[in-house]
Amino acid sequence: MNEKNHYIQGKTGPWEVVIGLEVHAQITSKVKLFSGASAAFGGDPNTQVSFIDAGFPGMLPVINRFCVEQAIKTGLGLNAQINKTSIFDRKNYFYADLPQGYQISQFLCPIIGKGYLDIELEDGTVRRINITRLHLEQDAGKSIHDQHPSKSYIDFNRAGVALMEIVSEPDIRSIEEAQAYIKKLRGLLRYLGTCDGNMEQGSLRADINISLRRPGADFGTRAEIKNVNSVRFMGQAINYEIQRQMDILENGGQVDQETRLFDAAKGITRSMRSKEDAHDYRYFPDPDLPPLVLTDEEIEHIRVTLPELPDAKKTRFINDYNLSPYDAGVLSSELETVTYFETALESLKHQNEKSIKLLANWMIGELFAALNKDSLSIEESKVSPQLLADLINFIYDETISGRLAKDIFAEMWETGEKPDKIINAKGLVQVSDEDTIAAAVDKILSENQDKVSEYLSGKDKLLGFFVGQVMKMMQGKGNPAVINKILLKKLKS
Ligand code: ADP
Ligand code: MG
Repeated sequence: MNEKNHYIQGKTGPWEVVIGLEVHAQITSKVKLFSGASAAFGGDPNTQVSFIDAGFPGMLPVINRFCVEQAIKTGLGLNAQINKTSIFDRKNYFYADLPQGYQISQFLCPIIGKGYLDIELEDGTVRRINITRLHLEQDAGKSIHDQHPSKSYIDFNRAGVALMEIVSEPDIRSIEEAQAYIKKLRGLLRYLGTCDGNMEQGSLRADINISLRRPGADFGTRAEIKNVNSVRFMGQAINYEIQRQMDILENGGQVDQETRLFDAAKGITRSMRSKEDAHDYRYFPDPDLPPLVLTDEEIEHIRVTLPELPDAKKTRFINDYNLSPYDAGVLSSELETVTYFETALESLKHQNEKSIKLLANWMIGELFAALNKDSLSIEESKVSPQLLADLINFIYDETISGRLAKDIFAEMWETGEKPDKIINAKGLVQVSDEDTIAAAVDKILSENQDKVSEYLSGKDKLLGFFVGQVMKMMQGKGNPAVINKILLKKLKS
């Protein structure tokens, strides 16, 4: 693991950014953590609320075993310790959208202990971010302040929905790392199917803890920015917070330990309240819930059902297909991308290194560029994995040149047409016939006698020029390998 310095230059010297993330991931489950009410998103307000969620007296919570399994799965995906005994606690506080007057959470004994997540940075370095814990807890309801000039409304549909809170160590050192972490975590959760990762709907949201320190000094006082719900906002919030804290510290002030909100419209954070400490919440074990006990068999049973995870896929892509670590990382980190890649791979005529490398290059190059240009996700791609594989097959067996393939791809993207149709209709089949190519080569060489002499006196680079000229003459249809071969032969004689 490489350690990198990301020091930020202030007026009075360098600063190091220290970040720890608390990520709330809503478990993909039909019903809530302790009640049978629906956990679906987007229902009419207050239509998915049981007496338990509404905090009626005498109601008893019952743990949803499915949610427990999702937490274990996630823990295994995070290379973490699974605690065979964990305890549910009451975290006491008053809030209008928390009808019980406390949140059922886990404090001293969470279901998942220490683990880690390896993140890849753009320059290829891998950094290990340690995970402190993952615990299960209830979500609160939603207060809605913008529907009425003088009233607030409350929707309890979300009250009691199962959350996994995933807490990282303060190991993150830059905006890039924070964003890479949340993306990697989101990808992992989606692979596992334990959380849909939908940040817009709030199924995945992050509290950002951030402080500054002089390189090598002890950690500084942190501020916590609550509920940031997009990767971009995360970057903006951290950026703003770095500037704010640096200004305070460089002017001899102190950062307050407080909870702040990110205002997406203004791109700033502002103070919400001073930070509570754990003892303020008067945590104690919930007397309504027995300790959660897991058996080895139960954990093993879940372990064997895990799908191949992003890091394992990445390693396999590197080892089996000889892809570069970067390419392998890009193709394996999102479930949709890997599904596209593996579906296309199935349709390749020759599943060998060369053909797979072509596919990887075409996905990361041409396909991603086209998706980007039209703001489409890969599931919405206008060229299906099968059709991209068809195109790769034609490139591989040299029916078409890579250059023409780009035009064909562009046309496939616009028209949805199959590559063979486009190739036939336009007569784009690559010419590999040696006599035809030799004729073109002769013509180009005789037209460029001066350059031939230069080449012969040592200017090797001119070979590219000759190839280009022959290609141009053949309207891009010449087989580059054959052109090269014949050129070299003729230039030697
Ligand atoms: P809480 O916020 O619930 O009081 P913790 O003390 O466990 O809980 O810390 C929460 C998060 O703050 C963790 O992700 C941790 O890595 C991070 N953190 C702790 N100290 C610092 C610090 N000095 N700077 C930045 N992040 C920190
Ligand atoms: Mg916190």
